[in-house]
Amino acid sequence: IIELRHVDKHYGDLHVLKDINLTVHKGEVLVVVGPSGSGKSTMCRTVNRLETIDSGEILIEGEPLPQEGRELTRMRAELGMVFQSFNLFAHMSILQNVTLGPIEVLGMKKDEAEARAMELLARVGVAEQAAKSPAQLSGGQQQRAAIARSLAMHPKAMMFDEPTSALDPEMINEVLDVMVELARGGMTMVVVTHEMNFARRVADRVVFMADGQIVEEGTPAEFFDHPKTQRARDFLDSIK
Ligand code: ATP
Ligand code: MG
Repeated sequence: IIELRHVDKHYGDLHVLKDINLTVHKGEVLVVVGPSGSGKSTMCRTVNRLETIDSGEILIEGEPLPQEGRELTRMRAELGMVFQSFNLFAHMSILQNVTLGPIEVLGMKKDEAEARAMELLARVGVAEQAAKSPAQLSGGQQQRAAIARSLAMHPKAMMFDEPTSALDPEMINEVLDVMVELARGGMTMVVVTHEMNFARRVADRVVFMADGQIVEEGTPAEFFDHPKTQRARDFLDSIK
């Protein structure tokens, strides 16, 4: 469903993505791990065209990413993105945050959007917070609301970039649990995370990035128990 072919990108002199080739299949949970600065976030952002690429191709369901305009807006709506910072609109209620996209982009009626939003907020366990503003919620609740907001757009796939790394430890699991449920429900997911237990438990495939390259790719058991490269072994040792 998502395909990167020979993707290259520089920031000035820094070669941040080097010949990235990656296919994410429908229903698959792909976990991306690697040291800080290895290009994980940059790779995620290129998939939504939040970052341009220098060369190569990105295909979504076999079609190249549109350059701009309505087509790009539509395509972005089909790929849910959840970041480390929750990115909820501060001046709106949680409910309004979730209904905004469906009403403005999908043209849904307000009643219908609100009913659907309440279902999604219930699914992630924050229905009681619907009328509150984001600042009145805990970090874990905000992140779960952000996931509900993405889901409201009926995404074909969800991308998560370190969704739990800004959270206090006691809130990490409540967000991971929502992600586990999503994965069980068959959602196609790309997850950048340092939560190795989650990776082991939920990933169909683990991709290890270092220095802008995909260095290893395999099942969680292959990667965690039998890393093939010294770089992966060093990385795994460093996080133990
Ligand atoms: P982390 O685990 O710390 O989130 P990462 O793997 O997500 O790291 P990226 O954020 O993709 O790494 O960054 C890759 C490299 O690109 C880093 O060296 C970073 O400093 C650099 N970089 C990222 N964004 C920019 C930018 N907008 N301009 C210039 N350099 C950037
Ligand atoms: Mg990052």
